[in-house]
Amino acid sequence: MSDTNQSLAQRRIDAVPRGVAQSTQIYVKKAQNAEIWDIEGRRLIDFGAGIAVVNTGHNHPKVRAAAAAQLEQFSHTCFQVTPYEGYIALAEKLNQLAPGPTPKKTLFLSTGAEAVENAIKIARAATGRQAVIAFSGGFHGRTFMAMALTGKVAPYKIGFGPFPGEIYHVPFPNAYHGIPADDSFKALETLLKADVDPARVAAIIIEPVQGEGGFNIAPPEFLRKLRDFCDRHGILLILDEIQTGFARTGKLFAHEYAGIEADLMTSAKGIAGGLPLSAVTGKAAIMDAAAPGGLGGTYAGSPVSLAAGLAVLEVIEEEKLADRALAIGAQLKQRLAMLAEKSKGAIGDIRGLGAMVAMELVKGGDPDQPDADLAKAIVAEAAKRGLILLSCGTRGNVIRFLPPLTASEALIAEGLDILEACLDHLLG
Ligand code: PMP
Repeated sequence: MSDTNQSLAQRRIDAVPRGVAQSTQIYVKKAQNAEIWDIEGRRLIDFGAGIAVVNTGHNHPKVRAAAAAQLEQFSHTCFQVTPYEGYIALAEKLNQLAPGPTPKKTLFLSTGAEAVENAIKIARAATGRQAVIAFSGGFHGRTFMAMALTGKVAPYKIGFGPFPGEIYHVPFPNAYHGIPADDSFKALETLLKADVDPARVAAIIIEPVQGEGGFNIAPPEFLRKLRDFCDRHGILLILDEIQTGFARTGKLFAHEYAGIEADLMTSAKGIAGGLPLSAVTGKAAIMDAAAPGGLGGTYAGSPVSLAAGLAVLEVIEEEKLADRALAIGAQLKQRLAMLAEKSKGAIGDIRGLGAMVAMELVKGGDPDQPDADLAKAIVAEAAKRGLILLSCGTRGNVIRFLPPLTASEALIAEGLDILEACLDHLLG
């Protein structure tokens, strides 16, 4: 007898630890562009893109062909043993595409968390300082340093301490929840008076738009002030573009909107169309601070992922995916605004940058009454009706929309029709 979603869900309980949670029990058979087919043959529209990974669509023919061609040659030798050209070629491209005029270098790794870990290692080596400042509600990964930098306790930090020392958090600007950017900035200044000598701070790490934290957007002016602040104190500014990168927000990297240059930038997710790859791109002199042998990893910079990454950049340019992100974002926001009007105050806020759009669910239009149960119910109802949605937010009450940037206008509209039916059903 062949497997069903239910039979696999049962096997999964016995075989896999519960710590790896799933938002649906839909087991995938195949995926193409912005659609997924499950093992029972049911079609679903994908508004999650594997958490902002397949910006170029599932199984893009060009990305698949590039990876397959590389597999024909070799799949692994280890860049630290017998290196290969693909690593250098993608590094050159990212060095040139990363915002700002300073010459750059790029290090490749496999996961987002690993990129964050390495950015901190490099920042410490370059400055000789230890402390790192991050933001409440931020998410940087599940390894120890990345977890320590993450500004959300449940579920990411529970039971896993102690964490590396010298990590500080300040509030992230949040207009909807009454944290003006100025207050956030003042909290940073106070931290450096009350808690830690700026001369001990190696880096400040920030997402230009918080991903897991609820799609909270750092105002460009705030990022510019942070840049100045870092320059005044000799602190390195790390932009975590892991969720925002690769055309998702309507620019190749979201901090382009602020017109600033990062000292170090982490990227991953959209970089290789679904193959595991991450990168730290930064000012060349800073990137060279770590001694030979201090950086790397057996799988870091897989040749197959790098080949896919080179194809992804071509697809982003050829298919004008940054422009598509803006169009998709506008389409989502327009329809969500209509849904908010008839939501009886359940959709309290709609926000986003490009095709990184979210709606925050509250009770009676009150920002202080988060409705995480409704978010959960919408995700479950949408999955039943053939639409993959993801939730996020420090209170678990935000639905985020991250369709592949290759999705057609008609498919996005079809997905939004399903969402509307879910809301009609749940809100009555
Ligand atoms: N930083 C950000 C901004 C992220 O969104 C994520 C993943 N959601 C990470 C880091 C960690 O990436 P990974 O899961 O690949 O380790």
